[in-house]
Amino acid sequence: MLVEGAIFDSTGARPGYVRVDRGKIVEVGDLGTASRRARERRVRGIVVPAPFNGHTHLGDAVSVREPPAVSFSELVAPPSGYKFRLLAEASPAAKASAMRAAIQRMQREGIAGTIDFREEGAGGVRTLRTAASGLGFRTVILGRPTGEGPLATEVERLLAVGDGVGISSAREVDRARRETIARACRRRKKYYALHASEEIREPVDDYLRPRPDLLVHLTRAAPADLEAVHDAGVSVAVCPRSNALFGRRPLLAEMERTKVSMLIGTDNAMLNAPSIWRELEFAYVESRSRGAPVSAEFLARSALVEPWRWLRMPAAARIEAGSPAIPLVLRLPPEDPPYQLVTRATEHLIVRGARPRPRRGRGGSG
Ligand SMILES: [Zn+2]
Repeated sequence: MLVEGAIFDSTGARPGYVRVDRGKIVEVGDLGTASRRARERRVRGIVVPAPFNGHTHLGDAVSVREPPAVSFSELVAPPSGYKFRLLAEASPAAKASAMRAAIQRMQREGIAGTIDFREEGAGGVRTLRTAASGLGFRTVILGRPTGEGPLATEVERLLAVGDGVGISSAREVDRARRETIARACRRRKKYYALHASEEIREPVDDYLRPRPDLLVHLTRAAPADLEAVHDAGVSVAVCPRSNALFGRRPLLAEMERTKVSMLIGTDNAMLNAPSIWRELEFAYVESRSRGAPVSAEFLARSALVEPWRWLRMPAAARIEAGSPAIPLVLRLPPEDPPYQLVTRATEHLIVRGARPRPRRGRGGSG
C-alpha cells in the first residue's frame, strides 16, 4: 500500500509518502517521488505510529449501567466503593470477557496497547493476562496489593505475573510501604506507578519519593508541582474525560509549558469507552472552553509518541523504513496533521489492511 499525504511521528509533522507492506514500513520519502507499482493500492492520508492508551482500569468494563450519582469516593474508593462491589460480585469469567471486549474495541480504534491499573491482586493480574491472550495487544499490567499477608510477599507475587505495581495514591499507602513496593519493582525492572493529586493537592515529595515511573491525573497539581515533576523526569498520564465527570481538570496547557512527558488515558472503563480519539478531542475542546488552550501537537504526542518513549521503545514512535513502529493509516486531509488527528480522527477513518489482522488463538499477550 502506498500512502501519500503526511506523516506525524516523534520528529513532528511533515508531508511525505509511506509504503507499507504487511504491516511494516518499507519506504518513506518526499511527496511526488514514490515509484509506481502495478496494482498497488494508493491512499491519501496521514501515517502515524499506533496510539497507546496511557491509563485504564479495564476491570471496570464489567459495569454496564450508568454509574450512580454518588461521591467520587463512594464510586471508586477501595475497598467498598461501587466499583469494588461490582468487581467482587462478578465472576472471573465475566470480568475476563468484559476486559477482552474492551481490548477488542481498542484494537478496532487502532490502539496498540494500554497501561492498565489492575485491582484484585495477583489473581486480578492473571485474569487480565488471560483476557488479553492471543490478541496481539500490548497490555502493561500494573497490579495492586490487596493487603492480605506481608506486603513484600504480595508484591513479589504481583511482579511474578504483572509488569509492575499501580497503587491508588500516596495518601492510602504510607511511605514505608511505597518504598517496599518501589524497591521490588526496581529490582525486577518493572514499573511502579500511582495516582497523584487527584482529589486534593498533595505535596510533591509525597508522590515523587520514592521515584515513580508514572503518575496518573495531577488534576490538583499547581504549576510549581508540574515543574518538579518535569525536573524529576517522571511521566504523567492524564484522563480529561473521567476527571471532568468529577469537576476536575488537569492543567494541560501548563503541562505543555513545563514540558512534562504527558501520556493520555481513558481511565475507568465504567465511566468512558476506552477511545483515545474521543479523549484527544475532548482534551482539545475542554482546554479551550476554559481559556487555557493546549496545542494539538502536544496532545497528539501524548497518544502517539510519549507512550513509546515511556516503554523505552522510542524507535516505535518513528515512521521510517525498517522502523519497529506499527503504522496506522488514517484517511484524513494531510494539511495540519496534529489538528486533523486530534479533532477529526475516528476509527472509521482507519485504512484497514495496512497491517496484519490481530492474531487469533493462543499466543503472547505482550
Ligand atoms: Zn486510575
